[in-house]
Amino acid sequence: MELDLGPDIAEFRAQTREWISGHAPAGLAELTDWNNVVTTGGYGSDRRAEATRHPAYAKWEAELQQARLICPQWPEEFGGKGLDAVRVAVFNEELYRARVPRVVRGMGESLVGPSVIVHGTPEQQAHFLPRIITGEDVYCQGFSEPGTGSDLAGLQTKGEVDGDEIVITGQKLWTSGAARANKMFVLCRTDPTAEKHAGISFVLIDFTDPKVSYRPVRQMSGAAEFCEDFLDGVRAPMFNVIGGLNNGWRVAMTTLGNERGGGATTQHLRYEKEFWDLVDETRKRGRSTEALVRQDLAWAYTHVELMRFQGIRLLATLAAKKEPGPEASVSKLFWSEYHKRLGEIAMGILGAEAMVASQPAAEGEYPLDRWQTTFISSRAGTIFSGTSQIQRNIIGERALGLPKEPSSER
Ligand SMILES: Cc1cc2nc3c(=O)[nH]c(=O)nc-3n(C[C@H](O)[C@H](O)[C@H](O)COP(=O)(O)OP(=O)(O)OC[C@H]3O[C@@H](n4cnc5c(N)ncnc54)[C@H](O)[C@@H]3O)c2cc1C
Repeated sequence: MELDLGPDIAEFRAQTREWISGHAPAGLAELTDWNNVVTTGGYGSDRRAEATRHPAYAKWEAELQQARLICPQWPEEFGGKGLDAVRVAVFNEELYRARVPRVVRGMGESLVGPSVIVHGTPEQQAHFLPRIITGEDVYCQGFSEPGTGSDLAGLQTKGEVDGDEIVITGQKLWTSGAARANKMFVLCRTDPTAEKHAGISFVLIDFTDPKVSYRPVRQMSGAAEFCEDFLDGVRAPMFNVIGGLNNGWRVAMTTLGNERGGGATTQHLRYEKEFWDLVDETRKRGRSTEALVRQDLAWAYTHVELMRFQGIRLLATLAAKKEPGPEASVSKLFWSEYHKRLGEIAMGILGAEAMVASQPAAEGEYPLDRWQTTFISSRAGTIFSGTSQIQRNIIGERALGLPKEPSSER
């Protein structure tokens, strides 16, 4: 099934295709396989990082910036191109087709920017948004704490107002990409007497401040991609409080909506490619005629197709200018549980070989191959951005209208 999105979109697709072929620097597509599913810090991420240091990538980045195609979904007044979700999906598809990368600005683009656009003042928008587009500010997310992940509203990090500054003290945990960031968006408790969700503020802080320290947390994949962070009286101007003091929960909900729903329209493309790579691997190993292997692969194929249909349904909703419903949680639950199971299927296909490292390792190292990394890292997908249990609660309570789960606080 394909979706006819009408002549305007067909024209946009043709123009985008032409623009990409006219502007993508020679050799860019060959630098690495930009279409692979790469888990940050996992297999393939070194090669991708190296490719982004190549002059062809810098040239491509400059071309995209010139054409406002970095953060293209942001409104034009904020430096984007104002592409609606359907056009963003088409843009992504065309980049994928041309095997060239979408230059992204990480959490700045997908989480901080949208939150500042919705909740920031015009002065905050003018200050913070351009710095994300140029890549000058790279953000990490300071939400989770040692005692509060799913129960985010229970967070303990303190924010105390001191004149025209806010002073932040506390500990954050599981901070992805902290070592690459120069800014953090932090949730802190600014009114300890208020009801749990009411006394929280959303603040942008300088992550290079000497009062910030962090250390890496090693994951079971061997990578140390996230950190625990200690904020020891970090000062930020009140200007950096987004959405107003004690109004951070509303801002955080905008952030989380974007985190869970982002990419739902085109994510199947990566999983489709990964699926066919696994089919190739199965054929190479002479296992593609085994009934149980075929059954597992058929399960995976069906799920990638369902993701595609779900993406089409979301696109059709957006094209009709309707608000998507609980798709964000449905999509997050679906892809993360799928990917975990795909990792298990891949391990079954590799058989006993899956249990040992594929290359000789240095002391203390245990290099994993692509499928071992998928197996191990995909488990994280069912935890970050809200665990599968939390997504099921949201779908049950907010989408299906089931009774709320019993809570000791009520
Ligand atoms: C790879 C990765 C990257 C991450 N990056 C970041 C980041 O950049 N910034 C950041 O702030 N955080 C980040 N996190 C943290 C992530 O948001 C939390 O791990 C997640 O919210 C779960 O919180 P927790 O680990 O404290 O587990 P807990 O909340 O303690 O949950 C433990 C278990 O209890 C279950 N559970 C909890 N409450 C309920 C309930 N009400 N009903 C049913 N079951 C429940 C959970 O589903 C889970 O299985 C990251 C996590 C991972 C794995």
